[in-house]
Amino acid sequence: MNRIDVEVAIVGGGIAGLWIANLLLRRGIEVALCEGGAGGLSQTSAAQGIIHSGVKYALDGVATPASQAIAPMPARWRRCLAGCGEIDLRGVPVLAPHCHLWARRRLGAKLANALAKQPWAGAEQVADADYPAPFERADGALFRLQDFVLDVPALCRRLATPLGKRLLKVRVEPRHLAVADAKVSALRTDAVEVRARRFVFAAGAGNEALAAAAGHPTPMQRRPLQHVFAHGRSPAPIFAHCLTDGAPQPTLTIATIGGRHAIGGALAEAGATRSKGEQVAAAQQTLQAALPGLDWRRHRFDTLRIDRAEPAQTDGRRPQQAFAAVGGNCLTVWPVKLTLAPQLGDMALKALGA
Ligand SMILES: Cc1cc2nc3c(=O)[nH]c(=O)nc-3n(C[C@H](O)[C@H](O)[C@H](O)COP(=O)(O)OP(=O)(O)OC[C@H]3O[C@@H](n4cnc5c(N)ncnc54)[C@H](O)[C@@H]3O)c2cc1C
Repeated sequence: MNRIDVEVAIVGGGIAGLWIANLLLRRGIEVALCEGGAGGLSQTSAAQGIIHSGVKYALDGVATPASQAIAPMPARWRRCLAGCGEIDLRGVPVLAPHCHLWARRRLGAKLANALAKQPWAGAEQVADADYPAPFERADGALFRLQDFVLDVPALCRRLATPLGKRLLKVRVEPRHLAVADAKVSALRTDAVEVRARRFVFAAGAGNEALAAAAGHPTPMQRRPLQHVFAHGRSPAPIFAHCLTDGAPQPTLTIATIGGRHAIGGALAEAGATRSKGEQVAAAQQTLQAALPGLDWRRHRFDTLRIDRAEPAQTDGRRPQQAFAAVGGNCLTVWPVKLTLAPQLGDMALKALGA
């Protein structure tokens, strides 16, 4: 059996585990990271890669705890991409330097007023003559946001590189934790024993079982999505949040990645309980109404069911910020958004005293 002694053992190799591992490595702290996704789809690998500025959480012009938590994040990510941030992300491709916010018809004027009340957001209205192709012929108002889009697989590869052999392909079951007096001393699978002073559970949906087995139950909630993919040609990639009906959140969030449009937003949330056929029909109808310049009937549609795993909230809604909770020598973390990885990193370093 392979035996490893480190300061911090991390379970989960999504954005949370990879980000925290990199922060610790940069401080000279020895880590091992166990990633057990045997072909399973993680939230990180499903993410569109949008680094949000927070505008979509303050669409009526009033800052919210969620918009305030996320607003500093794009600048921190940009520093990392430039090689002068907390983590070196030089070389990670930026798929779009800006996202658009698109509001149909009269909603456009309402939105312009709301955005004028939030100069921190740096949103700029796009002149009609400058509309990119997918928005031509559409009746409404278009804004350029500070949100930008990263290539997520490349981001994960970049974050995995410094770990080298300390990135272990190991699924850690709750029974693998060696626990005494509410402290974990090691995790032991058939293949490896990892002894550590501190353990970080960054396993997304796997956290609840691990934290409970360690003797520090941390309630989790799942919010299901049925994400939509539209495969087909469009005159240009689309990276946009679309408001269509005055709802407090974008009806559609579209990111064109690898030749297909990945579509989330309220459509994906409301569609979680629909059949695949119903969800595809709803997507076609909503897309055609939002962006009539494209013939969406010519696209081939597919869907993906996936849960967002987060700390439980009393109202079951989206948590407003990243989450880190200490129990004994364990830390359980959920970033809540890919964008919030730097905030989660701050919390983790503080909790680990690093
Ligand atoms: C469809 C979708 C699109 C999204 N788009 C965006 C976006 O554009 N921008 C944004 O900011 N946020 C986005 N998010 C949210 C964001 O992706 C998540 O908040 C974030 O990726 C969660 O990261 P995580 O590391 O906590 O979890 P995960 O990414 O789920 O990673 C957990 C990892 O732990 C591993 N694991 C689980 N159990 C075990 C175990 N027992 N042993 C070992 N390993 C284990 C899993 O294999 C997985 O790799 C999106 C989410 C979804 C679902």
